[in-house]
Amino acid sequence: MAGNQAITSFDYLIIGNSAAGVTAAEYIRAQDGEGSILIVSREPYAVYGRPLISYLLEGKTTEDRMGFKPDDFYMARNIDTLFGPQYEVVSLNAAGHQAVMRDGQAIGYGKCLIATGSVPFVPPIEGLEGRTNVFGFLTLDDAKSAWNAAREATAAAHEAGRKSRAVVIGAGLIGLKAAEAISYHVDEVVVLELAPRILPAVLDDRGAAILQGQLAGHGLDCRPGITASALQGEGAQVSSVALTDGSTLECDLVIAAVGVRPDTALAVGAGAEQGRGLVVGTDLKTTLADVYAAGDVTQVVNLLDCSKQPLALWPNAMRQGKVAGQYMAGSPDAEPFEGSFAVNAVDFYDCSLLTSGIINPAPEGGYEEQVFVQGKAYAKFVTKNGLLMGYILLNRPANAGIYTTIIEERIPLAELADDLFEETPINLDFPDDLRWKRLHAFYPSGLDKRGWKE
Ligand SMILES: Cc1cc2nc3c(=O)[nH]c(=O)nc-3n(C[C@H](O)[C@H](O)[C@H](O)COP(=O)(O)OP(=O)(O)OC[C@H]3O[C@@H](n4cnc5c(N)ncnc54)[C@H](O)[C@@H]3O)c2cc1C
Repeated sequence: MAGNQAITSFDYLIIGNSAAGVTAAEYIRAQDGEGSILIVSREPYAVYGRPLISYLLEGKTTEDRMGFKPDDFYMARNIDTLFGPQYEVVSLNAAGHQAVMRDGQAIGYGKCLIATGSVPFVPPIEGLEGRTNVFGFLTLDDAKSAWNAAREATAAAHEAGRKSRAVVIGAGLIGLKAAEAISYHVDEVVVLELAPRILPAVLDDRGAAILQGQLAGHGLDCRPGITASALQGEGAQVSSVALTDGSTLECDLVIAAVGVRPDTALAVGAGAEQGRGLVVGTDLKTTLADVYAAGDVTQVVNLLDCSKQPLALWPNAMRQGKVAGQYMAGSPDAEPFEGSFAVNAVDFYDCSLLTSGIINPAPEGGYEEQVFVQGKAYAKFVTKNGLLMGYILLNRPANAGIYTTIIEERIPLAELADDLFEETPINLDFPDDLRWKRLHAFYPSGLDKRGWKE
């Protein structure tokens, strides 16, 4: 802990040192220069870009380039830290304003932020628990462990005159990123997916089929509609996977990435209400006194269809961290967090995928779809009542930012060019009058961005 001070009580206790937690700390400090802040995390690292763990495993980045903040971030803001498994907060007493860590130490607080993020969903597969060559894919340590295991397994397999193979369970965004990354270290990768298509939450059937074909070209053997029924092998090592289609796959290691769920256990144990994540108000306060929550752990209102669900995305965690930090510190700049919607940008090998909003609308919901296919480029636009509600852009990244803005700001499509969704993308811009109005919405004093008068 910075400054070696005895652990007693802090004005602000932040549980979780990632996108939501550090952003909250930054905004608390911006408002309150004096209050004491402690961030605790069970991971033994300064904040790092979690989405970069697949690039680490791939060898495209190194650990020292994954930091999300400068090295002096905590010190420069006089933020105390306790990072390591012994500092996991194991219980919270909201009425007593106290948290207890795994090492038995108690910490008092004035206000507390739950920024505990996600935990992996553990699928009910026989023989999954207690294995030494089965890995999750959520943390820096997961990526390092998978890297070591894959390289050792490949060396041993080649020594024995055979190919090495990894099985990835789950073809969601995290599973496919893990599969791509591990493919650089093993000879064969098979990806299992219970749903009938890969990326079931962010693609439709047609887009998934195109992407699956491209991934096959890079050696990824994706098998939608099939998953693991049991992991088999002597002792702690898995040597084969029994599949739901009755066949068996030999393997050297397994990555289990079937999804994540909000890590609500601590707050719920203290009496907080949960729905599909921790229930929070627009000030990001939980139902517990002086306890706030931000990031993957919360339930978020989807601004497009008013449904409530977790939104496990880095920019959302940062946005919520900012709002929570401002409310916790009583900032006059605090603005209510009304909700959000999904925007995903990801690449696999040479394929780019951008998706946002509602992409698989309910048939009876009054939605319309426009689809464009040009070779490997696939685009789908979902509209309703003259508004853009969602899009898929596979291998056709042009104009994604402007489409997202059109969704976000609910700009009527009637105000925009007819060729907005053109098959051959053009570089879009708003019409002059709309651009002018938008500029003036941001600069209401009559000055535009460059300081020119109207
Ligand atoms: C492989 C991968 C790729 C991703 N790619 C993208 C992407 O391309 N784009 C995108 O937007 N998002 C991506 N995400 C999701 C993104 O990383 C998360 O949405 C984001 O990290 C959430 O931040 P958070 O602060 O809410 O929580 P987390 O990042 O989950 O961090 C929570 C922290 O709290 C700690 N913690 C939990 N409980 C306790 C406790 N009781 N005591 C102490 N510490 C505790 C955890 O160990 C963890 O360190 C990806 C995630 C993964 C795993």
